[in-house]
Amino acid sequence: MRIPFIAGNWKMYKTTAEAEAFAVEFKKSYHDTDVKAAICAPFTQLATLAKIFEGTGIGVGAQNVYFEKEGAYTGEISVDMLKEIGVDYCIVGHSERRQYFNETDETVNLKLKALLQADITPILCVGEVLSEREDGREEQVVSSQIKKALEGLTVERVCSLVIAYEPVWAIGTGKTATPQQANQMCGCIRQTLENLYDDVLSDRVVIQYGGSVKPENATDIMNMEEIDGALVGGASLDVVKFMEIINF
Ligand code: PGA
Repeated sequence: MRIPFIAGNWKMYKTTAEAEAFAVEFKKSYHDTDVKAAICAPFTQLATLAKIFEGTGIGVGAQNVYFEKEGAYTGEISVDMLKEIGVDYCIVGHSERRQYFNETDETVNLKLKALLQADITPILCVGEVLSEREDGREEQVVSSQIKKALEGLTVERVCSLVIAYEPVWAIGTGKTATPQQANQMCGCIRQTLENLYDDVLSDRVVIQYGGSVKPENATDIMNMEEIDGALVGGASLDVVKFMEIINF
């Protein structure tokens, strides 16, 4: 049984004061639900969120991490630093990081290894760009991203992973993949996991859809068989909208 999991990705939005105000409101609204929730926030907001959400079941996630344990890596944050302040999740390989910050399949793989070792759940993002979809190569692109991301990882490690299918052309554009398109791609990801490991594993891994998820389309997306949750950007900045998505 996979538990529905909705995570917010705040990207580079909200100061600490704004994050605090959101968290206090959100904590009051988040109850009577079987849906798991988490907020992935900028580094400077994580400790504040972890304190406010303590004991509520609401998870806290980072949006990036560096894979080395420690060292002369100016500007980077390690897995242990995240662990120490109570971080539960970390987004890895978001398309904005692949596009603007040189994230590659190789660094994604190293980051997954470091996070899983420390028992922080990675939310691995994969997805094709528009030209790849137009060429009919979306399944090939996404399954290759998964294979490279998981290289060298055992079945025991991978079972706690969350994967987010985020077609790049649907992120922040207002264009959503149709529920059928999203479902097909999440099915393709599950098939890739089965081929790499086995069907017990592929049945267990939580797969989210991300890309312009909002209250108006959340029900249709969440009702699809292969889709277990959503990674929500813009609409997660607003407590009311985010709660409406959680209560799909
Ligand atoms: P969006 O972002 O919901 O604003 O499209 C999703 C994401 O980038 O994770």
